[in-house]
Amino acid sequence: MKPTLRERLARELAHHDARGSRRDLTRRDDSLADFVTNDVLGLARDPAVAAAVAAAARECGAGTAASRLLGGDHPLHERAERACAEWLAAPSALLFPSGFQANLGLLQAFAEPGVVFVSDAANHASIVDGCRLARAARSDVVVAPHRDVDAVERILARTAHADRRFVVTESVFSMDGDRAPLEALLDVCERHDAHLLVDEAHAIGLLGPRGAGLVRELEMRGIDTSRVAARVVTGGKALGQSGAFVVGDEVLRAWLVQRARSLMFTTAPSPSLAAGLTEAIRLAGERDAERSRALRHARRVAEALDLPTPDAAIVPFVVGSTERALELAASARAAGLDTRAVRHPTVPRGTERLRLVLHAFNTDAEVDRLIALLRDAPRATADTAPRPIVRTRPLVVVGTDTNVGKTVVSALLMRHARTRGVARYFKPVQTGSDSDTRTVIGLAGLSAHEWTPPLHELPLPASPHEAAAAAGTSLDPVALQAGIQRVVEAMDEGVLVIEFAGGLRVPYTLRFDQSDLLAGARLPLVLVARSGLGTLNHTQLTLEALRRRHLEPSALFLVGEPHPSNAATLRTLSHVEHVYEVPQFRTLDTEALDAWLAQNDLDPVVSR
Ligand code: PMP
Repeated sequence: MKPTLRERLARELAHHDARGSRRDLTRRDDSLADFVTNDVLGLARDPAVAAAVAAAARECGAGTAASRLLGGDHPLHERAERACAEWLAAPSALLFPSGFQANLGLLQAFAEPGVVFVSDAANHASIVDGCRLARAARSDVVVAPHRDVDAVERILARTAHADRRFVVTESVFSMDGDRAPLEALLDVCERHDAHLLVDEAHAIGLLGPRGAGLVRELEMRGIDTSRVAARVVTGGKALGQSGAFVVGDEVLRAWLVQRARSLMFTTAPSPSLAAGLTEAIRLAGERDAERSRALRHARRVAEALDLPTPDAAIVPFVVGSTERALELAASARAAGLDTRAVRHPTVPRGTERLRLVLHAFNTDAEVDRLIALLRDAPRATADTAPRPIVRTRPLVVVGTDTNVGKTVVSALLMRHARTRGVARYFKPVQTGSDSDTRTVIGLAGLSAHEWTPPLHELPLPASPHEAAAAAGTSLDPVALQAGIQRVVEAMDEGVLVIEFAGGLRVPYTLRFDQSDLLAGARLPLVLVARSGLGTLNHTQLTLEALRRRHLEPSALFLVGEPHPSNAATLRTLSHVEHVYEVPQFRTLDTEALDAWLAQNDLDPVVSR
């Protein structure tokens, strides 16, 4: 019988418990030294800010009880906006109830067909969700590898036909605390007529002149920042409260009032929040000593622990597993230090960590204790970390359909990959009596250590869920995921080509298909399509389904009789970085594959 909703949720929660991934609401414990909150300047508890909040509440009441478009607007909102705009030397600002809503509203307001967003792979969840809204409005979103300006440039070069392009980045990234290459991004945007959207959440108050952020820092160095269409300044971090400003020119502000649904259809922030933010902005501008102190603490911790010099007040202490991160956070707590574990999926698997935030108010003695605790703690190094993402490069081969040529493409990838180092082939679920594993072994000339047998071999040539039923069994999504993860982890280095069965949305069970597996595992992938009639449609539909799941194939292979106009159209329309054409080989053998490989370079797909 179908489980009740309550049973279903309880079961999922039990899974989280078993994996150590359950999240809880937690409070601050004032008896512990704070290495967690984003309150780097100590403004969250500043008496002057609290007094400004209280005075405004007494004078203007507790709330607005309406959207800013329906009578909820208040002079104190505009005062805060003016204060923020002046701080950043920008024409105007617009206050949102939170940073999450600011990013959602900003991206959605620009989204329409013909618009392309290029989003850094490490961007915050609010930007990721803003991109999802943009996709829903039929914009294209391409995720660029973290801080990879060359990749951004390549994406911009191949989307030149779009009406408008926006590159979206944080100026300081929230999990690694590293800076975006803003100057290079501005340059690339200038050359390709694109605009930059910059989330300054973790820079504001801390970096730049008077804490006005990194875009302002560039301006002060005389760099032209006119390609920055908007900055997001959150009120919940160094400003110590909540809310966020989108900062840009007056036309942008007016446009957001027309279009940003997370502003239009939400209750205006309270006047007291606006008053508190105005006061916090005034104070933040003056806190140079606190800024230096927080940054000095961060540098000292990093130096003592042999970590890279931090760009901001965030120091990631990567331990490489959920258990270790939780254990370490618990021992820190026992030592009077508040640090928190950051786990997958907030950060990639294998990079689980303590995310340390250093504050101006942390005492030298507290910082010493933190260093003493972490100095001997086990951490992830190249040798100890189970880091499939870095050392083993899984590459999933998915198709737009069954019989499109995935096995031939897998063989090509394997044949190329083994000339570059270690390579292994793995087809987790084989349906039908022909073994693709055997075909790839033959075509790529694999020896025994270069392939892993399937987890499931189901003789019926049908979808995995049906083939499993015919074999009197069923597939378990959790076991399937774990099985693939084990194969990834069993490899120390090299390329692991993982061939999926059938098309992208082929079900493993009635509730779980290959796209779910891919979205959960977040593995790099390539897409294989049949060339010829119908290809444009199938390919675009599959790409849309992948991108809805925030998955970006690095290559598209069109297999079959060459169809130059389809290939050309897809080179423009698909926005996939590499498009290869693979002919129907007259004789399918290693010589044919090698002849193709001599003409086509798979290095950008296999070695990146
Ligand atoms: N952007 C970034 C980079 C963030 O780190 C956060 C908060 N974690 C937000 C936006 C969301 O801001 P808020 O907490 O105000 O919703």
